[in-house]
Amino acid sequence: MTRSKLSQAYPLGSRLDEDGRLELGGCDAVELAREFGTPAYIVVEDDLRARAQTFVEAFKARTKDFDVLFASKAFPCTAVYRVLAQEGIACDVASGGELALALRGGFDPARIYMHGNAKSVEELRFARETGVGHIVIDNADEIERLEQVVGGDEPQPVLLRVTPDVSGATHAAISTGQADSKFGFSMIDAPDAIARVSNSEQLQLVGLHVHIGSQILELEPFRRAIEAIAPLGDFPVYNLGGGLGVAYTAEQEPPRISDYVAAKVDTVADVLGPGKRILDEPGRALVANSTVTLYTVQSVKRNVSTWVAVDGGMSDNLRPMLYGAVYEAQIADRFPLSGTGGGTPSRLTGKHCESGDVIVRDVELADPRVGDVVVTPATGAYGHALANNYNGVPRPPVIFVSQGDARVVVRRETYDDLAARDVDDGDD
Ligand code: PLP
Repeated sequence: MTRSKLSQAYPLGSRLDEDGRLELGGCDAVELAREFGTPAYIVVEDDLRARAQTFVEAFKARTKDFDVLFASKAFPCTAVYRVLAQEGIACDVASGGELALALRGGFDPARIYMHGNAKSVEELRFARETGVGHIVIDNADEIERLEQVVGGDEPQPVLLRVTPDVSGATHAAISTGQADSKFGFSMIDAPDAIARVSNSEQLQLVGLHVHIGSQILELEPFRRAIEAIAPLGDFPVYNLGGGLGVAYTAEQEPPRISDYVAAKVDTVADVLGPGKRILDEPGRALVANSTVTLYTVQSVKRNVSTWVAVDGGMSDNLRPMLYGAVYEAQIADRFPLSGTGGGTPSRLTGKHCESGDVIVRDVELADPRVGDVVVTPATGAYGHALANNYNGVPRPPVIFVSQGDARVVVRRETYDDLAARDVDDGDD
């Protein structure tokens, strides 16, 4: 019997051998767990590169004037910035810290766009000092703050973030396009803000920005958002945000990158007119499926349910607890012949002191036992990014794999790291 294909949630190029063992970037998953310990984020570098190329090629096929920006909040890790900078894409940062990492990762500051709904004077100064190409203004308070930071120096090119009152079918926590949003100027306030910034001596308005939310699995909301901002005027640049959803499970079917790009580019041409420079900001769709997390089973407990407890949880993947995000899981060297299922209905749970610390609520695992390596795919976006030290658990390493080689790009945190910022050690 031949093995069925792996779910599309796994990184490109992943495979199962005849015995049902998972291979990632040419490396055996269980051996990676042995060598680097668990939990660990395993990033398939070729997957990252391929998706960046797919975005760029899709735009190139439809328009001359564009840039693809890595929305780096999804995976703010120097090595990831470096790979995506090498692939020739630009970058979006949402804080001074992300800006520092993006520069460290090799992004040209001129191709960095700075976001944020509460940028501080220090962050704006840092952006100016490092030569950030564009700042995306989110609110009226920021206009004055940025004008003061610019002072008598060269004007700062800016875009204005607009909330179009359009949202996609996604969780409220990651929906941003609705009128009652903490992000951007409402459609009512936008005209005054546009007039105000257009008349500023310190700011140079080049265009509008719109981002309606994340993990959106249909194209229609992206089209509606572009239509909604059309009455605000004619600008040379439109930054259309990110938001393209990805497959976290075998059942989810996100639009293809090329269809997403076509929908956006064609709508801009139809509604806003020809010759516009189009910027797009994918985060999740660039990085989510490049990565899996490996865990080791620490206990298997049966009461009403079968609780399979692993050595990580809400400290390395907060998404299921924050907004009910759904994942797949399998035993890394016992994938079922059918590709899905596994025989033992389980709750894959973490090690943290909260009952809500459940990574996958309903999953079939193949006879889970203590010591098994469990894999959850599609953890590249907002995994490492949202990692924390709850219960004093050190954050996992990030391991890059490519063509049979594996290398640590972020080491595992140590217990000493947990106290590294302590300045009062109790001695008088
Ligand atoms: N652009 C902005 C302004 C965002 O806030 C976000 C995510 O929150 C993104 C882009 C990336 O979104 P996604 O990861 O869904 O592509």
